[in-house]
Amino acid sequence: MIRALVVLVLLACAQLPAQIPPSENMMLYYWYGGGPRQPSTMHHYIFEMMGECLGIEGEPFGDIRWISADFVMRSDYRRLAGLWISEPRTIVLSHQTWGDPAVISHEIIHDLMRLGNADHDRSEFTDCAIKDWVP
Ligand SMILES: [Zn+2]
Repeated sequence: MIRALVVLVLLACAQLPAQIPPSENMMLYYWYGGGPRQPSTMHHYIFEMMGECLGIEGEPFGDIRWISADFVMRSDYRRLAGLWISEPRTIVLSHQTWGDPAVISHEIIHDLMRLGNADHDRSEFTDCAIKDWVP
């Protein structure tokens, strides 16, 4: 926990003298607090659902490392609902979004399709991800 905070502070200080505007190319991602957390049957259920929608079968759910964090952010100080890391396969969710099917499905699509941030306009995200509430 302390290490995450130190990295965050060092980054904030390091960026000030250089006046380098954060860009997508050099974007870094951080989370603070929390730690590994056992996914629930709902996470597994959504994983299976997304695999079916994407036409990807046989991916082992157990290969993903799950982390629940106090907060997740980018180096441009944007707070994130969740984050996918390709190696080792990791999904980081904030405590608030840990049980949110829309966020969970979004991060699982990143993982199953190996899609990065530049791929957010891919149709898989709109076609398969669980949508927000409909009244
Ligand atoms: Zn995303």
